[in-house]
Amino acid sequence: MSSATQDKLVFTQNALSALNDIDKALAYHMQWLQELHQTLICRQTPHDDLLAEDSHLRCQFGQWFVSAEVLLREQPGFSELGERHRAMHHQARLLLRKKTTSQSIELAEYDDFMQSNLAFRNQAQQYQATLINLVCVVDHLTGAWNRYAMVSKIAEESERAQRNGQPCCLSILDLDHFKRVNDEFGHLAGDLALQAVVRFLASRIRKYDYVFRYGGEEFLLCLPNTSLADAEILLDRMRLELAAMPIDLSKGNIVRITASFGVAELLPAEHHDFSIDRADHALLCAKAKGRNRVCSWPLGHDKPHDLSA
Ligand code: GH3
Ligand code: MG
Ligand code: MG
Repeated sequence: MSSATQDKLVFTQNALSALNDIDKALAYHMQWLQELHQTLICRQTPHDDLLAEDSHLRCQFGQWFVSAEVLLREQPGFSELGERHRAMHHQARLLLRKKTTSQSIELAEYDDFMQSNLAFRNQAQQYQATLINLVCVVDHLTGAWNRYAMVSKIAEESERAQRNGQPCCLSILDLDHFKRVNDEFGHLAGDLALQAVVRFLASRIRKYDYVFRYGGEEFLLCLPNTSLADAEILLDRMRLELAAMPIDLSKGNIVRITASFGVAELLPAEHHDFSIDRADHALLCAKAKGRNRVCSWPLGHDKPHDLSA
């Protein structure tokens, strides 16, 4: 998983339309298959497109494939899908050429075609499953990783911290008085503000850090290889920069939003839910102390510690 949130948002939208396009292309493919069999069995004259060397580029699927966005191309199984599609058209062309030159088609040749047809359909389904899995882990409003992705990622980081002994920190941040943004400017403007905040967070973290949407206007940052002391410095800088950032809500409305942060170490010795809970209690402390601040809950302390005090 990469943390390029903006790219993910675009990717999610593209992946959803790609799933739809592949469905349509597979429906078209069934029609194509029927026409092919009509030609082979009922002596219909094949359409020029079926006999062309580049027949795989002339069908609906081929057109989708060549114009697919880079992020879709980068997903595993994409090039194999193109290859299986090209091979299937090639096999179909061999059968059609024999038919149009009145040569008989051997059973093995027909079987080869049907095998390549099956291989293409299987590959298309596999690729669609890859896209569905990715769409399932992204928050569709903000492009942050969603809570479903958070559970597995934090479990993974907890195991990694246990293995390599490197510290990892979790921070939960909650936007201050966010309800007022909705109340004053409407929910659509509130949505724009949430997107702007996630873009900001994504631009301030390192490429192996993660931003998850924890709840409505609450986000969880996972900061691997980071001590609590370093996380506190990073988060306090982030807090100050966020507070200073003008957020354009459109229609000429500009707001500034602050956030309260709670941070705790992810402790491999305990279930990660307890580490999240300590970060959450530190956040409650930040809210109680007046908001727009960072509170941490260091190991061995019986309560959170207010860094901005
Ligand atoms: P506090 O400083 O105590 O956190 O105050 P608050 O107003 O931020 O907190 P509260 O929990 O009372 O309100 C959170 C608000 O966030 C209320 C809810 O409408 C808004 N919110 C949550 N999810 C979304 C969303 O997806 N879009 C929009 N526009 N607003 C959202
Ligand atoms: Mg809030
Ligand atoms: Mg909240």
